Amino acid sequence: MIDVIDLHKSYGKVEVLKGITVSIKKGEKIAIIGPSGSGKSTFLRCLNCLEDPTSGSIIFEGVDIADMRVDINIHRRHMGMVFQQFNLFNNKTVLENIMLAPVHIGISELRKKKVRNFFIKIGNLFAKNKKPLYEINTTPAKIKAEARDNAMRLLKRIGLEDKANVYPSTLSGGQKQRIAIIRALAMNPKVMLFDEPTSALDPEMVKEVLELIRQVAEEGMTMVIVTHEMGFAREVATRVLFMDEGKILEEGTPEEIFTNPKHPRTREFLSKVL
Ligand code: ATP
Ligand code: MG
Repeated sequence: MIDVIDLHKSYGKVEVLKGITVSIKKGEKIAIIGPSGSGKSTFLRCLNCLEDPTSGSIIFEGVDIADMRVDINIHRRHMGMVFQQFNLFNNKTVLENIMLAPVHIGISELRKKKVRNFFIKIGNLFAKNKKPLYEINTTPAKIKAEARDNAMRLLKRIGLEDKANVYPSTLSGGQKQRIAIIRALAMNPKVMLFDEPTSALDPEMVKEVLELIRQVAEEGMTMVIVTHEMGFAREVATRVLFMDEGKILEEGTPEEIFTNPKHPRTREFLSKVL
């Protein structure tokens, strides 16, 4: 699903990613562990092109999304991202937060089709072989209603339907993060990227967030999770990558990495965090 080939990223003279090559298959749950500053967040941000790689390729479903010429917005839609700091819009209600992107994309696609149809119609006036028009079977109102239904269904799923019309500032950290997760799910992503989704939470809220991520994993979602929750990585991940100084030093099943790490740096790291 995603093939990362010799990915490099520098900020000025500082090389943060020094050649990452990894292949992520559909349905895999990849946990990325490693010391602070090793480049884990930078790697995730490159994966969905929040950062432009300095060199290398990221082939997502056959398209090199590191190539400047591709329309990254189309691909980014298929990647849900959840950050440490929730990143909800505080001036919008919970429901608006979840509906925003699906409505925006639905309506902009509808507009594009209308514009294309306009030009096809003009072309058809002069052409012998008339081109077919794009079928349009929706309206902005329909798009909004569907996004609302979907958002409410997702809110019910996490037991927060009564919070639909409140603002994020009134919610606990755990509630905010679960809403950030379903907001990403509302886009029907093909892969979910999590960057330390529980690091900013009070301990008593970590469990509810991990539980939701675990459920999403069980439903078959492809996932990449940067985490310091070693117990969780061990339970949920199908593969663990250990990153240090901009490289993947070791990878393997959770069993291999946690019980029999080969690289001395992995051993040293695990001895500190386990
Ligand atoms: P942590 O576990 O603390 O989150 P990390 O593994 O996620 O660490 P990154 O955030 O990817 O590490 O950072 C890797 C290195 O890149 C760090 O040395 C950091 O200072 C540097 N870095 C990250 N973003 C930038 C930036 N925008 N400009 C310059 N340097 C940056
Ligand atoms: Mg980080």
